[in-house]
Amino acid sequence: MTTATREEFTFQTEIKQLLNILSHSLYQNREIAVRELVSNASDSLNKLRHIQLSEAEYRDDAPLKITLLPDATAKTLTIVDNGVGLTREELIENLGTIAHSGSLDFMKKAAEAKAGTHDSDSSGNKSDLSLIGQFGVGFYAAFMLADTVEVITRSYREETGWKWTSDGTGQYSIEPVDEAPRGAQIVLHLKEDAIDEFTKEYRLESIVRRYSTFVPHAVYVGEKHVNNQPPIWVEPKSQVTPEQYKSFYQWLTHHANEEPLWHLHLSADSPLQFQSILYCPPVNLELQGFGRLEHGLTLCAKRILVQDDNKDLLPDYLHFVYGLVDSADLPLNVSRETLQDNRLIPKLRKVLTKKVLDYLAELAEEQPATYAKFYEQFGMVLRGGVGVDFENREKIARLLRLASSHDVTPGATTSLGEYVKRMREDQTQIYYLGGPDLASLLRNPHYETFRDRGLEVLFLTDPVDEFALSHLQEFDGKSLVSIDSADIQLPASAESPSSSTTGEEQGGSSQIAPAGFDRVLEIFRQALGERVQDVRKATRLATSPVCLVNPQGSMSSQLQKVLSQTVKDFNLSRRILEVNPQAPLIGRLATLSSSGTNDDFIADCGLQLYASAMLLDGLVVEPDLTADRMRKLMEEAADKRTVIIT
Ligand code: ADP
Repeated sequence: MTTATREEFTFQTEIKQLLNILSHSLYQNREIAVRELVSNASDSLNKLRHIQLSEAEYRDDAPLKITLLPDATAKTLTIVDNGVGLTREELIENLGTIAHSGSLDFMKKAAEAKAGTHDSDSSGNKSDLSLIGQFGVGFYAAFMLADTVEVITRSYREETGWKWTSDGTGQYSIEPVDEAPRGAQIVLHLKEDAIDEFTKEYRLESIVRRYSTFVPHAVYVGEKHVNNQPPIWVEPKSQVTPEQYKSFYQWLTHHANEEPLWHLHLSADSPLQFQSILYCPPVNLELQGFGRLEHGLTLCAKRILVQDDNKDLLPDYLHFVYGLVDSADLPLNVSRETLQDNRLIPKLRKVLTKKVLDYLAELAEEQPATYAKFYEQFGMVLRGGVGVDFENREKIARLLRLASSHDVTPGATTSLGEYVKRMREDQTQIYYLGGPDLASLLRNPHYETFRDRGLEVLFLTDPVDEFALSHLQEFDGKSLVSIDSADIQLPASAESPSSSTTGEEQGGSSQIAPAGFDRVLEIFRQALGERVQDVRKATRLATSPVCLVNPQGSMSSQLQKVLSQTVKDFNLSRRILEVNPQAPLIGRLATLSSSGTNDDFIADCGLQLYASAMLLDGLVVEPDLTADRMRKLMEEAADKRTVIIT
């Protein structure tokens, strides 16, 4: 029997204010009180576990656990833990003063909110509504649910137990109790309007599942173990079974019966402390018309849920990744708002991004078939990163998979790395060409020379790839160039083409042009006027009569085409018409140019060749004039024909 009697104490002023706010807080936020109390209980169990590990005298066989005991008759909800408990001094110090930062933060914000909303003060503070859920208000949250709170506790170091009681106004009392098990029992004498909800087991179970599944201790509601999902991310990889990875994925994504394509289990101690499991789904629902998926990553601090859809932990081009990140460096009572300013998040994002990209590179190397599946589903999202993530652009570029002239089997792809390995020793540029589909690309006049010289060209049928490569500019020290541009340098070693005698003007070898060729160029130039930047002799055509080349530094034709369709008033840059002296049509025009009478016809041919070249790129110019000219040329051709059978 103890002789000491009940003693009365007065709360610190700030606590009185806090209690006033909490007890008036609105209905929807009240479930967070359970989260706060479970979280305190869990901390207490953590402390005890630590002590038991280091000091043998405090060890026993009782499993550490948290129990929620609702009692509709008594109108109470009791949260029980068998953790460290509190001494009389600790009760005064910890439950009588605001010493911890969570509540202080809350007070500061609440004061700011109040200052801005004088008129709503009396009605229970509308502005506090949002604040309460965001801040870890800690133990005092109990007064959101209860008129009176009792804490029956015994410290692991003491024989005597204590009962702390308060009705949440100004005072609290402490008295000794005879029988108290080690740990703490928080008895909530529920407010009238909270009795119904907070004495229902199923309701309490759903609250525990929502907020406390990851608590590293068993949480019971009555007899039922609610959080029986083990926190597998804190386990060493070798201890986690494939089945566990799978069921955790299903729990996270709510995708029943689905297996992830891959998972990545990370654990780091310094400079950042965190554990994480990241998953890639097997299919991209966005490709199936589901719209953009807005899930983020689950963020935990010491296994307690902080946010279940954090979108700042990975860049947008990895937004398809599901997973959980748990960091002990993150304060437990961090809110969505304060998370945005938290310096840890960008650091975590940087590490996680790097890890995912490195993992993908490894996957591509070691399991090419799985990587191919991944790329088919998520390549379209991933490649967007080249244009936005300057720091990782080379890493992302390595992950790109593109069609290539190296293997034109439909569906075959190559990587930039493989392309570079196959490059000629004196080749300084990586060649690519954009177009609507593989068949058109293979027929593109620009490709002729490359084909004939055995130079590999990447074929980009999706403008997004072209945007990516044009952003990249360089890979492995080699510049990336669209072969319809004037910046092309052919390697000196590229053997002469077999099918024509085309030489290289830039390379020094001269090309024999038929007499009258310069005259043809002159007539073309005059006829085309402002439509082109220049008309000149072709250096890289095999059989086509003409092609259009983009001047140095300008965008590829495909990119310009896409922009002209999407950007209002986008002006296509003027291009250079290159004319092939070896083409039979040009040879004939050169002969015809010797008499001045054919100039109009040659001019029409020039205009028509230009319009046709544009058409090959999918661009229609001057449709009225082009149609007229076509008709005229056909009439002329028809006139020249004869009905006499020879
Ligand atoms: P915080 O948990 O952020 O420190 P709280 O107001 O929730 O703030 O709790 C104040 C202190 O009271 C805690 O730091 C802890 O020392 C003590 N405490 C609260 N709940 C328990 C409990 N179930 N067992 C032991 N100590 C507790």
